[in-house]
Amino acid sequence: MPELPEVETIARGLAARVTGDVIESVWLGSKPEPLKSPAAKIAATLEGKRITGVRRVGKHIVFDLELNGRAGIESKRKRRSLGTNMRHTKSVEQWIVHLGMTGRMLVCSPHAQIEKHTHAIVKLVSGKELRFVDPRRFGRLSVATDFQAAGTEPLEIELRSFVDLFRTRKTAIKGALLNQKLLRGVGNIYADEALFRAGIRPRRSAGSLTREKLRKLYLAVQEVLKEAIMLGGSSISDYVDSNGDEGSFQLQHRVYGRAGEPCLICKTPIKRIVIVGRSSHYCRKCQI
Ligand SMILES: [Zn+2]
Repeated sequence: MPELPEVETIARGLAARVTGDVIESVWLGSKPEPLKSPAAKIAATLEGKRITGVRRVGKHIVFDLELNGRAGIESKRKRRSLGTNMRHTKSVEQWIVHLGMTGRMLVCSPHAQIEKHTHAIVKLVSGKELRFVDPRRFGRLSVATDFQAAGTEPLEIELRSFVDLFRTRKTAIKGALLNQKLLRGVGNIYADEALFRAGIRPRRSAGSLTREKLRKLYLAVQEVLKEAIMLGGSSISDYVDSNGDEGSFQLQHRVYGRAGEPCLICKTPIKRIVIVGRSSHYCRKCQI
């Protein structure tokens, strides 16, 4: 499942390739699962809009939209005549894509073969197409106005707020890190890697950690996420970015996916346990 660094990489790739382009038409497939908003609403929101930017919010890819061309000019004029503040002429509608487990966003030529499990094709005025492909259909497409996601961005949160998020929780720190209502976008791989770097066992109760330990964890979370973004994310299962390139952070994994292999610091075999239904990897000696 793509996590924060992968979604960040994908969003950056998409931003570089489609920002400024205008959506000409939208085709949506007949499978209901990928559509979190009604098909007609998605099409009506997207068609004729200019993409002013693409960004990541948590694990969502957010396309910011604004009216384009005549419609845009007319609507701006109308707003001006109503004496509306300029701030309100900013784009407020968004197209939101969540990749789920196996979702991919492709930017391609209209002549490219349409892959099996393609659930949406967005034709752009430039001639390019944006396609959403998702074999397992856990991905979701929706539209929103002033989109807000729950939780705090792990790369923007301040140390004091980070400590406050966790110090009163009785749940396992691993589970708390995965709780998207606290931090958004930290998933299984990066939680395991951050806990290893901070020397904290995944099962430790969040509230039992000292401020110093939480400070270490705060730094470790930021460090692993930033390193992974620099390397284009981790390529496990079938994740590729919008260029079809694979990330390489998986080569830096110190515990994730290394059950039974020697710890890189002390050679103790890495242990794998299950917490909140997710596999967790840690070193019994280095993490306490
Ligand atoms: Zn160790």
